Amino acid sequence: MNKKTLSDVDVAWLRGRTVVVRADLNVPFESGQISDDQRICASIPTLVALSDAGARIVLLSHLGRPKGRPDPEFSLAPVGRRLSELLERPVSFIPHADGRRAAGPVSNVPDGVIALLENTRFLEGETANDEALAESWAALGELYVNDAFGAAHRAHASTTGLARAMVARGGEAVAGLLMAKELRYLEEILRMPERPFIAIVGGAKISSKIGVISSLLPRVDRLLIGGAMANTFFRALGLDTGASLVEEDSIEIARQLIEEGGERLVLPIDCVVASEVTETSPVRIVDRKAVSGDDKILDIGPASRARFSDMIRRSRSIVWNGPMGVFEVDAFAQGTIEIALAVAEACDGGAMGVLGGGDSAAAAERAGVVDRLSHVSTGGGASLELLAGERLPGVDALTNQG
Ligand code: ADP
Ligand code: MG
Repeated sequence: MNKKTLSDVDVAWLRGRTVVVRADLNVPFESGQISDDQRICASIPTLVALSDAGARIVLLSHLGRPKGRPDPEFSLAPVGRRLSELLERPVSFIPHADGRRAAGPVSNVPDGVIALLENTRFLEGETANDEALAESWAALGELYVNDAFGAAHRAHASTTGLARAMVARGGEAVAGLLMAKELRYLEEILRMPERPFIAIVGGAKISSKIGVISSLLPRVDRLLIGGAMANTFFRALGLDTGASLVEEDSIEIARQLIEEGGERLVLPIDCVVASEVTETSPVRIVDRKAVSGDDKILDIGPASRARFSDMIRRSRSIVWNGPMGVFEVDAFAQGTIEIALAVAEACDGGAMGVLGGGDSAAAAERAGVVDRLSHVSTGGGASLELLAGERLPGVDALTNQG
């Protein structure tokens, strides 16, 4: 990566400086409680490094989609409390998102206490990349650290705008430790993959991942397709998919990808089908040619799992995005779990295995393999765009190295 990172900043310089950090604290909530704090945990190394160096931290993040105005449902206050518990350091929550309103309260926060501002998306200017808003945040500090990989594919005021505003003031805009790690793994596996290089793409919609599939197809030795998107490929082969989820609009693109990929593109050969997506619905294992009527294809079958797992175990570089089936329901989770275990085994043997996608990360967690994988990306959309060969505006705006 040609961008400056926090590791390039002189630790001695940081003492007593105020650093504006953009993190991705956009965690899911269930009935008012944080249901998964992985993103908060992933933000901790940068915050610890800065606070150990004696810097004062002003922390920004978005949460959910509050439509450009304050909405108590999306307040960052509970995130601040969880962050403080996990960090074992005090966090002072400032109930203003705008830098101009937050400036006074921020200056009263004692040394050693992190100042967390309210949800950046409480302001319309955030998604509009408003310059004055970006400047209001830049004015709070002397260095900008962007650690929000999950938001790097968006050109918003707290990402690209703030980086530019800080540079315009004579400061620097650098990647945080998480951002740097994400870029290192995702860029390295694309640039110089050790071969065999395999990609596994699954999940619900082919339309959301066409960019990734077309970009990876010419680079990899094998591209395995699973999940609901395999159904659209089945249709392109002229097969009956019964009552399965299919994207009619993408059948033609699937046909082109099959033609272009040749034997590099590998589809499932058998399927787990049921008429309902429930735990108790009777399931059948059928050849992909034997799907019909009210059958819904909900997982890859055992012959496909064995074939996919064998190819994965023999690979040295693996990119995985998207579950193989409806893994949220036990009856349809086995395909995803076996693939997760195969990727983990390959990594145990020294392969590089990188996983992207929010649901895929949850599936890896469920399969208990997270610690065995080389890298599990915290950014769904951002990792997809990077794998599709696109540039990330949040990264582009950072200060160049050297
Ligand atoms: P990620 O977040 O990892 O990028 P996606 O969001 O693309 O993954 O897809 C995940 C969703 O796809 C899961 O909710 C899963 O239930 C669904 N899914 C996977 N296979 C099927 C299938 N055969 N039929 C219906 N839904 C599926
Ligand atoms: Mg998803």
